[in-house]
Amino acid sequence: MKISVIVCAAGKGERAGLGRNKLLAPFNGANALYYTLSGVRRLAESVADEICEVIVASSEKDFKETDALCASFGFKTVTGGATRSESVRRALEHVNGEIVLIQDGARPYTSVAQYVACIECVKEYASAVVALPATDTTVIEKDGYVHDIPARNAVYRVQTPQGFYTRDIVRAYELSESDGNVYTDDGAVYSRYISPVRICPCGTEANRKLTFKEDFGNPFFRDVYGKIQPQPDDKACRCGIGIDVHAFGSGQSFITLCGVKIPCDGGLVAHSDGDVAVHAVMDALLSAAGLKDIGHYFPDSDPAYEGADSCKLLEKVVGILRGKGFAVSGLSLAIQAEKPRLAPHIDGMVNTLSAITGAREERISVTAGTGEGLGFVGEGRGICAYCAATVGPVEK
Ligand code: MG
Repeated sequence: MKISVIVCAAGKGERAGLGRNKLLAPFNGANALYYTLSGVRRLAESVADEICEVIVASSEKDFKETDALCASFGFKTVTGGATRSESVRRALEHVNGEIVLIQDGARPYTSVAQYVACIECVKEYASAVVALPATDTTVIEKDGYVHDIPARNAVYRVQTPQGFYTRDIVRAYELSESDGNVYTDDGAVYSRYISPVRICPCGTEANRKLTFKEDFGNPFFRDVYGKIQPQPDDKACRCGIGIDVHAFGSGQSFITLCGVKIPCDGGLVAHSDGDVAVHAVMDALLSAAGLKDIGHYFPDSDPAYEGADSCKLLEKVVGILRGKGFAVSGLSLAIQAEKPRLAPHIDGMVNTLSAITGAREERISVTAGTGEGLGFVGEGRGICAYCAATVGPVEK
């Protein structure tokens, strides 16, 4: 069954007092609409065969800016009207799906699970409004006094998304067009003209609507953002840096850099094989993915890693990243060593890193230099490696 999604972004957002459409005002490094659209995109990616289109209703005033943002998501922008109802009515004219979900642009933290629950509810009950059971006592006021107290377990706060069969909600909006009522959500229009709307009780505090100015600086929303998006959710490239040092002092006649054995008049002291270059690469990759360092994953107090082949550990790190949805896209490794001469071994190192990480060789650089006689590197007491890594989402 094909499903369309309408996002309402045509409001003025006057209660926020930001002097502009609150959805386009700065918020968490982007704007609220960006996060709402990112949520819809996650839904579209998770049920790709069902979502046939996303239509965003914009005011004429903000059309250019909204359309540029929507285009980057591959979503369609249409011009809304003076009221929310009018905007939805106009957006519905463009809908091709048999089911339509209608979402407030100002709810940036709707989860995929909430969208999916809403869809399932429509399939079973023909309509759905995502709602949250009230935790406070609510009252009906009359002339400044409490007139009635509804039973708390009968009271819900209605949120979005709200879902319907397209033919039903189109009919409801047609019938409501000239009735003079002000509807603040689609479920109310549906209930008035078609049938009582079904409650889908998966609402959450996190799915609150950004309404007032203080909501935009509210740490609650930043915290929520951190909690509900642990996975990379967009195509953004992320970078990390890793540094490692090992001292000369073992009796070996070689050192190992990126898995390449290089003859040397001394070996590096280490719990593992002392591959200082791969250690820097691993930390850079873990850092880029926002994870803890190699000491966390491979503690040197663990005898299992005694003399360990660092390339095998790098394989594990690549696997950990993959499990988090990241693929290695590039490495820039700089090694500082007074000895031995590294130039003849650079190609071999690039080759090994490419084979293990899956990044193409032209995306990997290994450079080598000396310490010009200065410091521990220059005095030939140790080797230092720096790595900058970039990771991106695993290709689906
Ligand atoms: Mg190390």
